[in-house]
Amino acid sequence: MKKVVLLAMALLILAITLLNLSSCECKHEWKPATCESPAVCKKCSAIGDAPLGHSWEAATCTSPKKCKVCGKTEGTVLRHSWEDATCASPKKCKICGATEGKKLKNHSLRQGYCSVCGNFVNELPEVVNRLKEYITDCNYNLMCCQQVLKVGGSLNDAVTYYNAYLKAIQKLSNICNKYPNEFVKFTNMITKIDNEQQKYINQFNASSSTSARRSALSSAASVYITKEVEINSILRDDYTKP
Ligand SMILES: [Zn+2]
Ligand SMILES: [Zn+2]
Ligand SMILES: [Zn+2]
Ligand SMILES: [Zn+2]
Repeated sequence: MKKVVLLAMALLILAITLLNLSSCECKHEWKPATCESPAVCKKCSAIGDAPLGHSWEAATCTSPKKCKVCGKTEGTVLRHSWEDATCASPKKCKICGATEGKKLKNHSLRQGYCSVCGNFVNELPEVVNRLKEYITDCNYNLMCCQQVLKVGGSLNDAVTYYNAYLKAIQKLSNICNKYPNEFVKFTNMITKIDNEQQKYINQFNASSSTSARRSALSSAASVYITKEVEINSILRDDYTKP
């Protein structure tokens, strides 16, 4: 009985030894694991270490999610998060700092200085030219309006000219509002004219007879016309003040 046990143990030891021998047959030469594949023995194709997995870098505005190791990408790029252009900077991405387009030409002027970029900007000569242009428009349309009334032309034609004048003086006001510190006296003048003429415009609107309307329109037109010389000299004053 003892012999049988000994024999069985000897066989077992032999079997283990043989098994060990066979597993030692290949001195593995590993091809290292990559992000997606395990290590593989170049000789016997035995599988070794598990795949490493990707080392992802987050997506940016210019690149999708990307593996630092193998360069594989996944998904899509982020959208730029644009900030509007200003006079100091073109349209710009808050995340990556990329820019697109150009800086704005318009500054936010305060007494010649821009409150956004801080530069001293003398764009006033150009602004004054625009004001002069609209002053001429106002004058032209009012002269036509009064002329039509004077020669007994149609009231509709006169109104058309007057409306063109109203558009032009509105443009003057808009510019003045943009430069509250540059054209103070001029702005006051335009406001005063606006208020005065409104009285006659109300009269015009309230009148039912054509002759009353013609006379109200003529009065409305003369508010600006009688101040024309003053308007120009005030603009000159404002612009040349130190
Ligand atoms: Zn091997
Ligand atoms: Zn990878
Ligand atoms: Zn970006
Ligand atoms: Zn600026």
